[in-house]
Amino acid sequence: MNDKPAIVWLREDFRLADNAALTAATQTGAPLLLIHIRPERPYGMTAVDWFREKTLAHFNVDLRSLGGKVHVFAGDSARLLPEIAARVGAAAVFWNRRYDPVGREIDAGLKREFAPCGTEAHSFAGALLHEPWTVKNRVGQPFKIFSAYWRAACEAGSPRPPLPAPRELKFFTEPVTGAQEEQLPWPAWTSSLDAHHKFGEAAAQDRLVRFIADDLGHYEDERDFPDRDATSGLSPYLRVGQISPRQVWNAVSDASVNPAHAAARAKFLAELGWREFAWSVLWEHPGLADHALRQEFEGLPWRTDPSGLEAWKRGRTGYPLVDAGMRELWRSGVMHNRVRMVAASFLVKHLLIDWRLGEQWFAETLADYDPASNALNWQWCAGTGADSAPFFRIMNPVLQSRKFDPSGVYIRRWVPELKSVSDKDIHAPWESPGGLPANYPLPIVDHAAARRRALAAWDGVRGGD
Ligand code: FAD
Repeated sequence: MNDKPAIVWLREDFRLADNAALTAATQTGAPLLLIHIRPERPYGMTAVDWFREKTLAHFNVDLRSLGGKVHVFAGDSARLLPEIAARVGAAAVFWNRRYDPVGREIDAGLKREFAPCGTEAHSFAGALLHEPWTVKNRVGQPFKIFSAYWRAACEAGSPRPPLPAPRELKFFTEPVTGAQEEQLPWPAWTSSLDAHHKFGEAAAQDRLVRFIADDLGHYEDERDFPDRDATSGLSPYLRVGQISPRQVWNAVSDASVNPAHAAARAKFLAELGWREFAWSVLWEHPGLADHALRQEFEGLPWRTDPSGLEAWKRGRTGYPLVDAGMRELWRSGVMHNRVRMVAASFLVKHLLIDWRLGEQWFAETLADYDPASNALNWQWCAGTGADSAPFFRIMNPVLQSRKFDPSGVYIRRWVPELKSVSDKDIHAPWESPGGLPANYPLPIVDHAAARRRALAAWDGVRGGD
């Protein structure tokens, strides 16, 4: 190739290592023009946008030391990418595939558009261990049940080893018109998120290494306890591609990992498998965030309850574990998985509020918001999915709290009003002999009554079968 640049369009893959699109572009010998196109944000920045922007800023610091940078544009990528390619006379465009319904459509359209213009468009696998259309059952149908999906995925063999970072990067140095400021102003609400995250490819790798050394061995036994730092914390990094699932798989499967940790390792890899499964379900059901997979659940008599929804969002339901989780989410952009389950179940079953409203709130506030995992897990908690917790199984937030945060360490971390309530009473402080602390609400709904109401709603749906 001559000096026409090769464009690498970065979307959710801000890393140098195991970046197939970047590696392939480097191998052409053409100077690289790295670009990112910010989507138009009519409703402002969400938490995952914030995490992506921070990531981009850190990735640019890494690139600057190598003599390059990411050129940032904003707007409709379907229009902008061909314009940029024409403006710089690009020989080829490279990207790693994305699988969300909107992104898929844009990318397919771009490939069609580039084909007749002589600009080659190359796409690569990078965000998943298995392309979402590849794991099928014996008759070529997608799996509906996770365990069968994961068995088949594992039988398909280990994913290919991760690629090393390219040894040398040659950048396109001519001016590129239309690029934006690299950094957006941060909305005020993002300031509390900073303290809870580290950014950059090195930080993601460091987190993985520390997890394997310190926590993998007891992952299976401790992953459900929000008061312990027993999970990997990799989800935001995976979301924006500061680390790839292949890198995680490879490091965790490494033979040097203690053989006594085999069960914990399998459990952890299966959790990564849930992420894969979610993408395969979204691939088959692009409306996963909008429609119940089990159609009969579209008939549930959801309540309109703005004050209940607001209390849930703000962590003011009067159920300490739910409130701790919702406040953790707002302040840090993440929430422990067990607590996500309890909080989601509470919204859907105790308040009988449509799971889609919860899904949307998580989509706005999670720094690891992932359209596949979020929608699938909401449907799982709501009991509306194919392989879900049954609707009639209603989590008791007080029992969950006693079991998984027995000393109230996690609750006290996020709900300071309850700091001086005893370990015994903190799970149901309205029963505390010392009385409910000032400023902490009474439960907005009685558990037993809410349970009866949810079961009656479910019976109504079953009756319509
Ligand atoms: P670890 O326990 O260390 O797991 C390792 C990795 O496996 C995670 O980083 C993640 O990529 C994957 N994983 C683990 N559990 C799940 C799961 N149940 N489903 C899919 N992938 C999983 N996860 C997201 O990444 N984005 C979301 O938007 C999201 N929304 C959720 C909504 C609800 C209602 C629930 C119940 C769960 C949701 N999850 C989501 C799944 C899970 O809570 C997070 O992946 C996990 O808490 C991230 O923490 P970790 O990286 O320490 O996980």
